[in-house]
Amino acid sequence: MRTYEEVISELEGNSIFPIDSNFFKYPNSNHPLKKQFENLFRFGQDFLDRTDLGFTTDKARVFFSDRDDLNGYATHLNGYYLIDIYRGTIEKLDAYYLSRVDVFSNTRFNFLKSILLRIGIEPKAFFIQFTSLLYFYHETTHFIQQYNEHDKKLPFTDEQKIQIKTPIKLLREFDADWYGSAHSAVNVGERTENESEFIELAIMSLAAFFLFWVERSDIKNFEIFHKENKHPHPLIRLCIWIMSLTLTAKSVFGYHLDGKLMLNSALKVAALLENENENSKSLQMQEMIESKYGEILDYILQIQDSSIHYPYLANNSR
Ligand SMILES: [Zn+2]
Repeated sequence: MRTYEEVISELEGNSIFPIDSNFFKYPNSNHPLKKQFENLFRFGQDFLDRTDLGFTTDKARVFFSDRDDLNGYATHLNGYYLIDIYRGTIEKLDAYYLSRVDVFSNTRFNFLKSILLRIGIEPKAFFIQFTSLLYFYHETTHFIQQYNEHDKKLPFTDEQKIQIKTPIKLLREFDADWYGSAHSAVNVGERTENESEFIELAIMSLAAFFLFWVERSDIKNFEIFHKENKHPHPLIRLCIWIMSLTLTAKSVFGYHLDGKLMLNSALKVAALLENENENSKSLQMQEMIESKYGEILDYILQIQDSSIHYPYLANNSR
């Protein structure tokens, strides 16, 4: 088991540093969120060191760079696969949920609290932990894509290329949402004891995804069914998430869930947690999904069709 200090000195010894930044060395700091950094690092590095997930490498490392923003990236450098989560990610999540902490007294959170009581964490800590996990899974998907390309050297034939009708970046981002959702659903299943607990925690996790990924983008000036080299539209990302979540719930835990119902509940929870500036984005989103649900599913199926032919995706390597 590698410690954070060991990872940093190993990378420094190989002349590897965060892009345009420095390592954030929380172990020697008095940072108030030191424990949160340690928890995410421990979870993340142990995940990268696993050998049962379609990638096996002793060259993948996760660390925090000393940046204020909410973000991260994955890169392949000097033989290492690096996942950098910015220091600001955990700090901003903590500040956001601290400002919203009164909302948890709403009776809507009673069931969640009863589940979390057994796990031994507060709702605020759950939302922060869960959201930072989503950042990790997102970048981990990009790591696996690079691993499949550089390490496994999977063939990518001309016949495959012809079958792909969607830009590659869009496929890679679709893959990241799908993979993040599937793995976080496994985490939810491991922490719950029955279907109704699973549904409740999954609704909360979807609300967390919504608040920190989807809602950051401008939903109006952005074509929903675009074919450009960028992330899918937020609305599409939500639906990708719920599709992957319900499929994982069924295949891993045998739960048959109503995805659309869960999505509606998650958007209602998000509406409670939104601050005044963001107010009602979740309700707008709900209306848009309601009116375009069929078209959305068709579009996602088209992306999925192309994704089968792109060998480097994390979802093709399991
Ligand atoms: Zn991405």
